[in-house]
Amino acid sequence: MLTLHDVTIRYGAHEVVHGVDWAVGGNAPVTALLGPSGCGKSTLLRAIAGLEPIAGGSIAFDGSDVSRVPVHRRDFGIVFQDGQLFPGRTVGQNIAYGLARRGVGRAQASARVDELLDLVQLPGVAGRRVTELSGGQAQRVALARALAPRPRLLLLDEPLAALDRLLREDLAVAISEIVRASGTPTVVVTHDHGEAALMADVVSVMNDGVIVDTASPQRLWRRPADAWVARFLGATD
Ligand code: ATP
Ligand code: MG
Repeated sequence: MLTLHDVTIRYGAHEVVHGVDWAVGGNAPVTALLGPSGCGKSTLLRAIAGLEPIAGGSIAFDGSDVSRVPVHRRDFGIVFQDGQLFPGRTVGQNIAYGLARRGVGRAQASARVDELLDLVQLPGVAGRRVTELSGGQAQRVALARALAPRPRLLLLDEPLAALDRLLREDLAVAISEIVRASGTPTVVVTHDHGEAALMADVVSVMNDGVIVDTASPQRLWRRPADAWVARFLGATD
């Protein structure tokens, strides 16, 4: 369980996240962080990952404060919009990247790569160059790479944004199924309502540096917390 308490983030003098309290996980395997462009979603996700310092407050995982723990020691997996695979390497080398660093031997790493390629429904492509993959395949490989070291939390920042619309819906469902099958609690950032509803058990809505509502998709769309959330979600009542 991830717990944020009064988290504030600034770029120079510009405060973009204003005292966020947020609990993620518990009985919800997948949480979406949904909000308009520029509201601070990526900034908050990067701070959870350890890629952005916080100016105030605390971030804890399973009861222990990780606010000052460096990125690699947090044991969180991260996938960005464009996957950011290592272009000169094969699919297998990309997925195994974090395993060698953790002292996992070759044979064991190779077995783990095959297991993950099965999980992301791309069996047998370990020897392919990542530059030969389609956008959707590349995102599945990025997901496999993030899951390889068995992270305690998975952070996805707009994992579908670079893909075309038709592919996005299928991959949204696939990613949701894959992370559930892996048993890894997941936060997915999106500005797309449909994606949030398709993927998540719980949706938190962010506006202008604060989280303004957190609920199941059903409750959120039926009874938004206020007029802004209702308008943002396009609710009719
Ligand atoms: P989008 O949906 O477009 O990805 P977002 O909700 O992820 O938006 P952020 O990228 O977190 O928004 O940006 C929040 C605010 O912080 C914006 O006003 C943005 O201009 C600012 N910002 C983001 N990164 C930096 C940075 N490295 N330096 C200065 N300001 C930044
Ligand atoms: Mg963003």
